Amino acid sequence: MLPITFPNGLKKAFTLSYDDGCYDDLRLIEMMEKYGVRGTFNVSSGITRPEGQEPCGSWERLTLSERQAYRRDGVEVAVHGQTHRDFTRISEPELIYEIMGDKQALESEFGCLVRGAAYPYGSFNDLSVERLKNCGIKYCRTVWSDHSMALPSDWLRLRPTAHHNDPELPGIIDSFISGQQPAPDRPSALKMLYIWGHTPEFRRDGNWQMMEDYLGRLAGRDDVWYATNLEICEYALAANALEYSADGRIVHNPTAKTVWLDDRGNAVKVEPDETVGV
Ligand SMILES: [Zn+2]
Repeated sequence: MLPITFPNGLKKAFTLSYDDGCYDDLRLIEMMEKYGVRGTFNVSSGITRPEGQEPCGSWERLTLSERQAYRRDGVEVAVHGQTHRDFTRISEPELIYEIMGDKQALESEFGCLVRGAAYPYGSFNDLSVERLKNCGIKYCRTVWSDHSMALPSDWLRLRPTAHHNDPELPGIIDSFISGQQPAPDRPSALKMLYIWGHTPEFRRDGNWQMMEDYLGRLAGRDDVWYATNLEICEYALAANALEYSADGRIVHNPTAKTVWLDDRGNAVKVEPDETVGV
C-alpha cells in the first residue's frame, strides 16, 4: 500500500478554528484573506448582537448582517451549539436541539451544508459524540491541544495542535515549516497544523500582531495545503475509504473525491470510482 498524501501530493496542511461568532472574527477573516489561509468559525447561531448596537463588551457577538462575512471563500461555518450550552449538562432532547437547531439555522442562513462542529466549553461525553454523528456531523473539535500534527484517528474527538497563545506554538510552527518528521510515537507522514482560539482573546491580550506574524510565516508556501477543517476531514475520510487488493498493488477509490498517493516521491492520483495499479 502506498502512503496517502494531501491533494496534489502535498504532505502538510494548515487550518484555523475560532469559536463563538464574535465581532473580532471580522478582523481575523480579513487577515486570512490577506494571507490566503483558510479556516473554520464555530458559531452559536442563536446568540447575536442586535443590529445597530455598537460592540462594547469584550466578547461581543456579530450581528446577523455582519455574519455575512462568513460567506467568503476559505471560510467554513460550523456548529457550536445553538445557544452555547455545555453538551454534558443538558438532557438528550436539549442536546439534539443544540446540535440540529444550530446546524439548521446556519444552513438556512448561509445556504450551505454544515458538517463540522466544536464543543462549547470543550465539554463532551460519549452521548454527545454519538448524537453529533447521528446529526450528520463529521468532526468536532475539543480544546485538548496536544501539540501533535498527526491526522486524528477520531474526528469526533478532534484534538487541535495548539491554542494561538500556547508558548510552544512558535517552535511547532518552525518544525512544521522546516519539515522535521513527527515524533516516533506519532508516526504519520502527513502533518496538519491546527491552531484554535477565540478572536476576542487577541483584543484582550493585545496580540493581534503575534497572529499576523504567525500567518505571515505560514502563508504562501507551495508545500502547504491551506484548507478549512471540513476540507481536511472529508479528504482524510475519503483516503481512509480506499480499497486495496490483497497484495496492496491495486487500489479502488469508492468515494466522490480524488485521492492522492505517494509512490516514492511521485504523486499518484486516484480519481473517484477509479481502480488503478500501483
Ligand atoms: Zn465557545
